Amino acid sequence: FIVQDNDSNYGFTQDETEKIKVNGEKFEFQTEVSRLMKIIINSLYKTREIFLRELISNASDAIDKIRFLSLTDQNALSLAPTLNITIWADKENKVLTIADSGIGMTKKQLIENLGTIAKSGTSEFLNAFEENKADMNLIGQFGVGFYSVFLVADKVIVTTKNNEDKQYIWESTAVNDFTIAEDPRGNTLGRGTQIQLFLKDDALEFLDDGTLRGLILKYSEFINFPIWLWTTQS
Ligand code: ADP
Ligand code: MG
Repeated sequence: FIVQDNDSNYGFTQDETEKIKVNGEKFEFQTEVSRLMKIIINSLYKTREIFLRELISNASDAIDKIRFLSLTDQNALSLAPTLNITIWADKENKVLTIADSGIGMTKKQLIENLGTIAKSGTSEFLNAFEENKADMNLIGQFGVGFYSVFLVADKVIVTTKNNEDKQYIWESTAVNDFTIAEDPRGNTLGRGTQIQLFLKDDALEFLDDGTLRGLILKYSEFINFPIWLWTTQS
């Protein structure tokens, strides 16, 4: 089992990486989304920590959705009965992972939600931002909070498993396209979504124990599920 330093092999064996290369499909970001991402990745915005609020709120929404489904479908939770959010800081590889046992996304939802179908909020936010009428902090209110991950990461891998589909991976370095592939590891999540942020060299503070604790406390006030934080020494 090979886990290499902060490159595309992270968490995958050479074989699995090869499979993703061969079977992965490339998708172009919708034009507005692409513009938004370029602004975000080049942003010198100081309050970058808001990405964590956006990820925690998405994780919480996803858990709410599966819990709601489980009221009418007694099998809805069977692949992952425990509803929680886990945050894992890997200092050695400079990767911050946020995982939830929420509803997850089918392949179709993954393609639509993270890149190809721009919500009306995308251009609204772009316009407001460019006219200095909206601050980066408001990104979530425009319904495009996910993309704030590129304030702190230059590569992101989303792994997701919905009850109705196989496990898929989405990978992007915030340029014009993203890759989607069936996960060669099979179903490792049970159910839910895992977001791995390959942190920019100037964003390593978000691996720090104290920093993460403080931010999680700050942003979990209205979150009704347990949040676990794992950090490594060094
Ligand atoms: P919003 O949360 O306002 O809809 P985001 O940009 O934060 O906008 O997220 C876009 C969409 O991506 C969400 O509406 C949801 O469908 C999907 N999504 C994001 N994160 C997750 C997650 N952790 N689990 C399931 N779906 C998610
Ligand atoms: Mg959101």
